[in-house]
Amino acid sequence: MIIKKDDVLQTPEALKEIESEWLQQLNGTAIAWFGRAATSLYWAYRAVLSRRVEVSQPEVILPAISCGTLANVALMAGFTPRFADIDPQTGLASLESIQSRWTPRTCAVVFVHLFGQTIELRPLAAWCRSKEVTLIEDAAQALNAQLPDSSPAGSVGDLSVYSFNPSKILECGGGALVVRSESLWAALEREFGTYASLPELDSTTSALLSLSYRNLHHALVALLRLNVGSGVSELFLRVRAAYDSLYLRPIKNSAALATAWQQRASILEQRYRKAELYTRKLADGPWQLLDGWSQSKVCWRYSLLVDFPDQLADFSEAVRRDRFHLSNLYWPTNQFFRPNDACPNADFFARRIVNLWVDNSVTPSWIEQCSSSLVKHATKIAQS
Ligand SMILES: *Cc1c(COP(=O)(O)O)cnc(C)c1O
Repeated sequence: MIIKKDDVLQTPEALKEIESEWLQQLNGTAIAWFGRAATSLYWAYRAVLSRRVEVSQPEVILPAISCGTLANVALMAGFTPRFADIDPQTGLASLESIQSRWTPRTCAVVFVHLFGQTIELRPLAAWCRSKEVTLIEDAAQALNAQLPDSSPAGSVGDLSVYSFNPSKILECGGGALVVRSESLWAALEREFGTYASLPELDSTTSALLSLSYRNLHHALVALLRLNVGSGVSELFLRVRAAYDSLYLRPIKNSAALATAWQQRASILEQRYRKAELYTRKLADGPWQLLDGWSQSKVCWRYSLLVDFPDQLADFSEAVRRDRFHLSNLYWPTNQFFRPNDACPNADFFARRIVNLWVDNSVTPSWIEQCSSSLVKHATKIAQS
């Protein structure tokens, strides 16, 4: 599919009002609307690279706990991804670990507001500026989240990306790239050229490729979890480009996004109440509850770190047999893309994390029963 610059870099009519209001809140210069956060990130990377042509083998630092999309798209754009370790209490990249991955080739850092949590970002932003490194905020899970100083997530980095696709806060489809300088916007326009081509994917191909990626990822995570995963990274890197066509999409339905936008506050309020309910029901278990959502006011998934990593698989299975869904979503991405960037805290975190649902698919009574199931099975494990 060939798309015209004007069709992408000009704001859709239905989003004009939203855009100007949102830019004010975020202190931004301009927004490009795409079909996915992945596409937004791809063009963010391209804009950054176009200003650093003197750097050979440019690097971007990504948090080890995030989805593989960030690194896949980085490779597509021409970046070598490097991986920073995380704070084991939150899963968020720590400033020290980001700094320790810096090299003269570092051109960008992506900070992910994981599960809706945030931290004070200004020290990271100041360090990035001092190193001429572009800071990209990934707020796909943190629409409307508040930093500790009350400014919105996505308002500190040079660029920020958002997702409105299924499983995120708004699920109507779409993604956004918020740009916070005239010169970055000019770089984006230049990189985009007059036309950009996007792969034409019919829905069958796209569904099969997505399913294949999910299965591959699950299969490889199981090997890594069992510590029998030697060669996983080589295998993954050999086939990963087969999925590239999934990541680039124009926005399809801007009117649907404009409608969903008006429901942000009430959706977040309901999610927040569900998180409070989990906290009441899960207060005394053999785990640590992540409570960053209470400060940021955004809960993407309710998350806890169990004290029994070796029994986590059995525990998850037992809860699923009671018909409650939970997930252990993220495996450290460095283990797929660059095992030599050791991230022990990410490994610690991935072996303990449990994510629970707070969206429209669950009701308060479901949450109460799910919590009882979690407590029951955790107690059994503690006694065995
Ligand atoms: C879902 C997600 C993305 C990708 O969003 P898409 O709109 O599906 O491309 C990127 N980053 C994070 C943190 C996400 O959770």
